[in-house]
Amino acid sequence: MCTMWLAAPLLARAEILEVAPDQPPLSLTPYIQLYVDRKHVLPADSLNAAALADRLTPLDRSAANFGFSDAAYWVAFTLKNSSENDLPLVIRQDYPLMDHLDFWAPTGNGDWHHIRTGDHQPFTSRPLALRDYVFPVTLPAHSQQTFYLRFASAGSINIGLSVSSQQAYLPRLGLEQLLYGIYYGGFLVLVLYNLFLFLALRDPAYAYYMGYSICCGLFFAVLNGFTFQFIWPEYPWLANRALLLALGLTLTFAIQFARLICNVKQLAPQVDKFCGLLRYGTIALTVLAPLGDYATMTEIFSVAALIVSLTSLSVGAVSVWRGSVSARYFLIAWITLMWTVVMYIFKTFGLLPHNAVTHNAFQVGALIEMVLLSLALGARVGEIQRQGHTDQLTGLFNRRHFDELLAKEFSLAARQETPLALVVLDLDHFKAINDQLGHARGDEALRAVGQLASKLVRKPAVACRYGGEEFAVLLPGCDKQTANRIAGRLLDTVGKMNCDGVPLSVSIGVASYEKGNYQSPIQLFEAADSALYLAKEGGRNQVVMSGDSEPLPQQAGPLVEVH
Ligand code: GH3
Ligand code: MG
Ligand code: MG
Repeated sequence: MCTMWLAAPLLARAEILEVAPDQPPLSLTPYIQLYVDRKHVLPADSLNAAALADRLTPLDRSAANFGFSDAAYWVAFTLKNSSENDLPLVIRQDYPLMDHLDFWAPTGNGDWHHIRTGDHQPFTSRPLALRDYVFPVTLPAHSQQTFYLRFASAGSINIGLSVSSQQAYLPRLGLEQLLYGIYYGGFLVLVLYNLFLFLALRDPAYAYYMGYSICCGLFFAVLNGFTFQFIWPEYPWLANRALLLALGLTLTFAIQFARLICNVKQLAPQVDKFCGLLRYGTIALTVLAPLGDYATMTEIFSVAALIVSLTSLSVGAVSVWRGSVSARYFLIAWITLMWTVVMYIFKTFGLLPHNAVTHNAFQVGALIEMVLLSLALGARVGEIQRQGHTDQLTGLFNRRHFDELLAKEFSLAARQETPLALVVLDLDHFKAINDQLGHARGDEALRAVGQLASKLVRKPAVACRYGGEEFAVLLPGCDKQTANRIAGRLLDTVGKMNCDGVPLSVSIGVASYEKGNYQSPIQLFEAADSALYLAKEGGRNQVVMSGDSEPLPQQAGPLVEVH
């Protein structure tokens, strides 16, 4: 659309920018004049340069981002070509999410060439099919020209104009595309890597991670204008609403991922309930995102993002405090992201300037976060494996671990011709304790005996909970006499315990592998178990050494409370 304005006055107070033939990209912010048309007195689709000349004033700030505003922002700047030749230039607006963007360039014969674009128009409205707005112009030899733009948007008004010679712009564009390729490639690699792990492990944490990183990558692809360029160029509606949709889904996956990786359900059931509600909140917001007023929705989403971030930081901190290794990566990941998010929110609301650092730190922070979260998932596998070898009640190793360890230590002892002793304990009349005092008190007694066993033995000896009220202590390198002494100490110490006044006692069987006396770990275990049976038979509260007929003498002592 062209509008005739024969007498286009040059800007009186504007600093004129002299452009070099090989001009590298240069920000136009210091050279622009601005008129904020709050009441929309000037028509949007035609340029009235004379009316603007009275209203435009130099920009009184170092950056031209204004947060959310209903006003139309008219911008003008003047470029000068002092060279002998016509100068092909590109003028670029680097923030793609601008609803309405109008550009007027003088045609040289008094006319204006008007380009009406913005992400409320189909993608084809752009002079060049690029993710942001690039206007090619030619500045004739020995001339100066004033260019006008009009910005209006329901979103944030970020005016990021720059000029460069076409010659300098193309290599820069190539480099930029390469960097974006690496960036999104990073997301793709993380998603594929974790997809394979998900297929192998079937752990839902991987599914949430993938959802999280896909939506997060999508969010940045929308923010950078790539989705409008490549995925839905015909759908301006989606181009405008996709950012909040992607953000809503990102937050939903983020909270689900945090719940799993930080084990919130077990650590703090109340907080887990809150996280569950928060998830419904973000789902509701995602559904409402296309319906509400854009600026209001953005504000609500910013608050939601802050709540999700603070919640994630809190559950991460609690989980780290409780000793989770995967939560350490999780917490560092969130801290990395947090400060870049705060920077971005400040920029969106005009409290920080729109520049390469404030615009990109958030993106780089998000990718680093994804890498760290992938490490958190790796650490989680180790933790789950460890959990599979740990008894929940006592914190000792469980039977699975004991079986593996016994086989390993037995073959080592056989190879190195070193002794290996095994002590098997079974609490006496424990059923009666449960019946008398209840299962909970019984659990406490088991925990206390477990703690005692692990305290009394030192590495390389290992105490395990073999089953119900049975424990096993494996003593590599320990001969018969030492094993007998340790068993006696266990018997003695348990004998001093009581559970609400009911005395505890234990029967113990000991077997020792020496000089090839057993052929397999099973034989060694059966020998210790038979000795334990004899100890029970012999009246309980005693140690029987496999091969010996006489039990160790009982050692009585004062009662010690369990808790
Ligand atoms: P004995 O002297 O012959 O070993 O008698 P006992 O009652 O200890 O042996 P029995 O094998 O008949 O019963 C074992 C009891 O240990 C029964 C079960 O209720 C209790 N028990 C097993 N596991 C647990 C547990 O995890 N917590 C509690 N509180 N009790 C348990
Ligand atoms: Mg028992
Ligand atoms: Mg038993």
